[in-house]
Parts: sequence; C-alpha cells; structure tokens
Amino acid sequence: MTSTSLAEVKCTKCKKVYETDVVDHIDLSEDRDLINALKTGKANRVQCPKCKKVMYLNRSIVVNFEPENRIVVFDPAARTKAAKEDFIQDFHSVISFNETLSEIGEETEFLVISKIDKLKTMLDDYLKAYK
Ligand SMILES: [Zn+2]
Repeated sequence: MTSTSLAEVKCTKCKKVYETDVVDHIDLSEDRDLINALKTGKANRVQCPKCKKVMYLNRSIVVNFEPENRIVVFDPAARTKAAKEDFIQDFHSVISFNETLSEIGEETEFLVISKIDKLKTMLDDYLKAYK
C-alpha cells in the first residue's frame, strides 16, 4: 500500500515553511495512477498554503514492484556506492527483525537507484508485463 509521512517543506518562492504529506512508499500493483508521476519525477507534488507555489520534491521513495519480488529505493541523492550501500544495510537490518520478513527478504531483489531514467525503464517494463 502507498504510505505517506509528514515532511517539513520550505517554499522556494515565499520562503514559508510548512508541513505536508509526502509519498514515501508506493506499491505498483495498487497505485498504477502514480506510475506516470513517478516516471517524470513528480510523485511528490506539494503546494505552498501561503502563495500557492507548486513544487516537486526530490526525496527518496520506496517502490514495490508487486507481484515481482523486487523493491526499489529511488533516491536522486544516492549517487555514490556508499550511499546505496547504506540503504541496503537498512533493508537487511529491518528484515532481520523477524522470521517472516527474513524469508521474504531472501526472495526479494533490493535495488537502489538514483537516476530517473533507470527507474523509468523499469516502470515501462513493468507496465508491459502487467497490463
Ligand atoms: Zn510560498
């Protein structure tokens, strides 16, 4: 399921700081309408309550490619190998907490992607495979 969390955002126009819901996890099997937004880097659209300026946030999003056993973290900032490995370690520490998750984890391909083009290709392939 898609899940959101509250984030603090600073308006680039009027500098107002406001709190807003941001998407941090998308399950593709349930949220196909978000695929196009994801492909163009516009999954996280926020609007300033004061001046109405619309911004698209560049934050990390976890994408679950159900029914494939593939989880992708898209983070435009995770350009280095070290940054990617941090995510992979987090993933392993989360799944090691319980047996069921560990089993799921062993069957799951976990990837960290920083380039939108690569994510776009994977999403296109997904759409072709699961029409
Ligand atoms: Zn504003």
